Amino acid sequence: MNLAEARSTLQAARRVVVLTGAGISAESGIPTFRDAQTGHWARFRPEDLASPDAYHRDPELVWEWYAGRFRDVMQAQPNRGHLLLAELERQKRAEGGSDAFTLVTQNVDGLHQRAGSAAPLELHGTLLSARCEACGHVQPLPDAATFTPPPKCEVCGHRMRPHIVWFGEFLPDDVLALAELQFKRADVALIIGTSSLVYPAAGLADRTRSHGGLVFEINPDETPLTQRASFSLRATASEGLTRLMEARDA
Ligand SMILES: [Zn+2]
Repeated sequence: MNLAEARSTLQAARRVVVLTGAGISAESGIPTFRDAQTGHWARFRPEDLASPDAYHRDPELVWEWYAGRFRDVMQAQPNRGHLLLAELERQKRAEGGSDAFTLVTQNVDGLHQRAGSAAPLELHGTLLSARCEACGHVQPLPDAATFTPPPKCEVCGHRMRPHIVWFGEFLPDDVLALAELQFKRADVALIIGTSSLVYPAAGLADRTRSHGGLVFEINPDETPLTQRASFSLRATASEGLTRLMEARDA
């Protein structure tokens, strides 16, 4: 399939599902987990900052790390890739209702929402909220400039933890089940800025394929998904979405 065919297929699709990964946030200057580990943080292994054991051992250290990452993402801005996906969501939902478009993300930075996406399914949680260790209540963190961890639950007063899926934890069942359903039902699944190496990315795309839908990929690099995709663009998220969504070639 060439670009013109992919573009018209996307335009005609009645159900579109999108999976985004770190690649789309890189264009907003959001570092990957490992790239964020500079200075003081460089001496820690990722699992020393992002696992239930680490939090049990030293909750203050873990919260210090996450408060820093929260400040970083709140200083970043959504980029053209985020904005184009919000636009695609508006178009598809105007034509076909809320089931016509689903955004699933592996990112935890909240940039999709800030770009205007209504309710992305966040497979790995979010830096912008905390979850009560006692009652499970989830609430947004206060303003990044004044936030001092740990937050206290507004329902029961207990200490809260980052609302992030850590190493050694399962993805949230309800979010994953909804994502799988939408991938199964999609005419087009668009996989953007993720290597598709880590579960569940590869598995989600295969659900679309095995139910007769098409898989499109946007990634600067070839990935394990590339050979199985109907269309694959070697581009950043913003470049690729611009080419796929704009009516005229530049
Ligand atoms: Zn609580």
